[in-house]
Amino acid sequence: MRILVCPPKYFGVDYVINPWMEGQLGRVDRERAHTQWNDLVEGIARHASVEEITPCEGSPDMCFTANAGLTAFGRVIPARFRYPERAGEERPFADWFSGAGFEIVTLPGDDPFEGEGDALFQPGEPLLWAGYGVRSALETHTLLGQTFGVEVVSLQLVDPRFYHLDTCFAPLPEGRLLYYPAAFDERSRRAIERRIPSAKRIEVSDRDAVGFACNMLRLDDQLFFNHASDALRSSLSKWGYESHARPVSEFLKAGGGVKCLSMILDQAPFERVTPAPPSPIRATQVELKGHLLDTGGLNRALDLVTEAGSSFRMTSLSLAERKDQESRAVLRVVAPSQERLEGVVADLMSLGGQPLEHEGTVQLDTVTQVGVAPDSFYSTTIYLTEIHLGDQWLEVEKQRMDTVIVVESSDRPTARCKLFRDLEIGEQVVCGVEGVRVRYPDSAAIGEFSFMNASVSSERRVESSVKSIAWEMRRIRDRGGKIVVVAGPVVVHTGGSKHLATLIEGGYVNALLTGNALPVHDIEHDFFGTSLGVDLSHGRPVREGHRNHLMAINRIRAAGGIREAVESGLVQSGVMHACVRHDVPFVLAGSIRDDGPLPDTMMDLEAAQAAYAAAIEGADMILMLSSMLHAIGTGNMTPAGVRLICVDISPAVVTKLADRGSLESTGIVTDVGLFLNLLAANLSNDAG
Ligand code: NAD
Repeated sequence: MRILVCPPKYFGVDYVINPWMEGQLGRVDRERAHTQWNDLVEGIARHASVEEITPCEGSPDMCFTANAGLTAFGRVIPARFRYPERAGEERPFADWFSGAGFEIVTLPGDDPFEGEGDALFQPGEPLLWAGYGVRSALETHTLLGQTFGVEVVSLQLVDPRFYHLDTCFAPLPEGRLLYYPAAFDERSRRAIERRIPSAKRIEVSDRDAVGFACNMLRLDDQLFFNHASDALRSSLSKWGYESHARPVSEFLKAGGGVKCLSMILDQAPFERVTPAPPSPIRATQVELKGHLLDTGGLNRALDLVTEAGSSFRMTSLSLAERKDQESRAVLRVVAPSQERLEGVVADLMSLGGQPLEHEGTVQLDTVTQVGVAPDSFYSTTIYLTEIHLGDQWLEVEKQRMDTVIVVESSDRPTARCKLFRDLEIGEQVVCGVEGVRVRYPDSAAIGEFSFMNASVSSERRVESSVKSIAWEMRRIRDRGGKIVVVAGPVVVHTGGSKHLATLIEGGYVNALLTGNALPVHDIEHDFFGTSLGVDLSHGRPVREGHRNHLMAINRIRAAGGIREAVESGLVQSGVMHACVRHDVPFVLAGSIRDDGPLPDTMMDLEAAQAAYAAAIEGADMILMLSSMLHAIGTGNMTPAGVRLICVDISPAVVTKLADRGSLESTGIVTDVGLFLNLLAANLSNDAG
């Protein structure tokens, strides 16, 4: 084997480009570094032929030859370093490769690739493991496969301490490897596990990982590394390897170990695949518009791409000059596979991004099993969606999130959102993101989802928020619009039911969506003056009070239902009384917590969901009052454009609704009894 090394004549920590270098500026003991390097090279020379490149002044990291490029079969792809600090190494290494007779394959563009540091052959197999995410760019992996006739498995590195693949991953012959799983994202870990059975994988400990045990050089059955625990050595010895510790502590100060200090010039032979396997890496362009900077929207989008194991390049960016103007960015998103690309584009679309290259006709696939979509289904957002079918853009009907789009291609094709469970065999479902576009209200473009920043009211802002909500409600009522209230039993416990009843009587509620508990406690209060056994006028529990709500349930069951109980005069006040008296429809969705239940409570959850969805159709405003379960459930079925007001004492619940990313949402963190009191007072003042 031929190994390329570079004497550490100019080695030192002169800059900081990885976490190991922090605090080490100027702290390298050069003499010790030389001794360590000489010991290592002496050891290597016993098992391989060593070649040396002359170090260059001003390139302190040049001794880390593994990063100089990737070679096999007399070809080399020279490195292009991510940081300018190392760019000076590129020329001398490329010259050395030419001088040594290597055929040079140059990477197109300017994406970084840090050689063997981020690309390791599985010995004897046409398989290359390639790292990305910290130093090398995913985009470069396609050329690696083509150049060497290998399949490339792209692995995303997520821990900046393990910034190169060779710091945390060491493939060994016979399909084995040594690695540090925590250095990779979940998908990459799964990719490794799928290919290498557990008996052939050694997961190194944290201690071995930070001791750079994975950063090993294998020369036949001899392994060289900075450090390895006894346990690790013993595992490796069972595989027939002899371990050699060659401490390189001075080089560790710069984040480099034994493998970093050595470049393999001739790989273990393997049969190249011709033509080279097609690369699964895919790219597309996505446009982002809106208040990208002041609301952090751009950051969110970029984080989303990276967290999805993809990479991006901003190909265009125009920034707003004033607060009222929008910024625009175009991202070129690169993903390790078509499926991952579609996933990340769909995620960006749910943030308001718009794919620029999706003008093709929409892809359809057929349902073959009742209630089951084809695997690559497009999942909908709350935003109005259009699909490109034939030569026209078709608007999708019944828009709601987390459904699929079903297309009926007759003379007049139609497209509509459908729940998975309602899918029928033979239906055509939109798959992938090709030919799908989403229309955002201008202000809802990315970055405008300022729910938390602008619209979640703290206590001190509750009063002014309530005032403007009251104003909106009055306008909606007066123009014959629709207001839906979603509420939980806390409304009753906090003494808010009389205020909610006032709103119903005043014509401000067109439908009530709740569960079993609100009517139970509302009716309990009418019968006994208590809510869950607590006397609401004094706030104290009453004797035997816990029976009260059960008695209420029992009596309503005896009466045959809420309407019957109100009409017979059994129930004389409260929220449910007001609904019945004022013909306000209500839907009671059952849950596993329910006592009774009341005869009106729908224990068939699919039917209850459908009844909720029907009730919110055409709503202008939905007022969500202290019911996490029902508020989130309703939010999930509400399309963009509906004004949502969420009132809850828990900021987490209010923020959860913000995940809809809709500008029409307002969150108020306060006690619901207090809120309803203020709201009812405002509305009756307005009326006067
Ligand atoms: P939930 O946990 O989904 O929501 C309650 C919400 O109220 C929470 O988000 C909480 O933060 C908020 N909250 C608590 N105190 C508040 C206050 N003072 N002001 C504002 N917000 C406040 O629970 P849920 O919606 O009440 O009930 C979930 C399901 O369980 C429903 O279907 C309900 O009908 C059922 N349930 C049944 C019974 C029963 O049958 N006896 C009793 C309780 C709940």
